[in-house]
Amino acid sequence: MLVNALNTANERWIKYMENEILISCKNVTINYDKKVAVEDVSFDICKGDYLCIVGENGSGKSTLMKGLLGLIKINSGEIDYRLIKKQEIGYLPQQTVVQRDFPASVYEVVLSGCLNQNGFRPFFSHKQKEKAYKNMELLGIKDLSKKSYRDLSGGQQQRVLLARALCATRSLLILDEPVTGLDPVVTAEMYTIIKHLNSHGITVIMVSHDIPSAVKYGTRILHMGRKVQFFGTVEEYKDTDIYLRMIGEEEQ
Ligand code: ADP
Ligand code: MG
Repeated sequence: MLVNALNTANERWIKYMENEILISCKNVTINYDKKVAVEDVSFDICKGDYLCIVGENGSGKSTLMKGLLGLIKINSGEIDYRLIKKQEIGYLPQQTVVQRDFPASVYEVVLSGCLNQNGFRPFFSHKQKEKAYKNMELLGIKDLSKKSYRDLSGGQQQRVLLARALCATRSLLILDEPVTGLDPVVTAEMYTIIKHLNSHGITVIMVSHDIPSAVKYGTRILHMGRKVQFFGTVEEYKDTDIYLRMIGEEEQ
């Protein structure tokens, strides 16, 4: 165990020296009023990682992601954006019922992913429109471009949101529960697409409570329980009591 931990620390140190770390979170704490949602969380995300963030409902996963994106303020600690700006992160938010009813066309939703690069410019450039089409093609939704987003199936909607997130980034995607509510076939398709993007150079942070899939597809795990319960490689995670307990509960 100790040897493993030392190896991991050493490997991270080398990545640090080689300038491979995209974002480094140090002792981050986030409160809602007086309630602590994320406490003293430290981890980093390296180029090429597929980091799965797991943990029970209410364990601070979404809050931590919003902190990383700068959508909410952190109360203490530091987030060091070493090789990426906040605005260059692609984000697929956790879905709410209201969002599913969003009244816009597929093309408009995808293109809106380019908004964070525009500053105060209200128009989209030719290049941005091309990018939207390219991402719709990549995700197999080009034929749906004129359809209304709210008329799509859950799986199609998630593809649209993934294409939208891709418009915002070339390097890092944050996906908050991207397969929740999807049937098993569509879920498997989404996982395959995400793995494909990762193997083509996009770093992925995925929030999920599907632990078997997290260890199947991910390269690193951050297990949250307000504080960090575990952070390390999938192989190390599989040796932990917390993993065995979670898997045991699933099998019962
Ligand atoms: P997870 O994504 O792991 O399910 P969240 O980050 O959504 O967890 O929530 C962490 C904790 O913060 C929970 O106790 C939740 O009730 C609380 N919380 C989340 N969002 C808000 C909010 N906007 N205002 C107050 N409390 C919140
Ligand atoms: Mg959440």
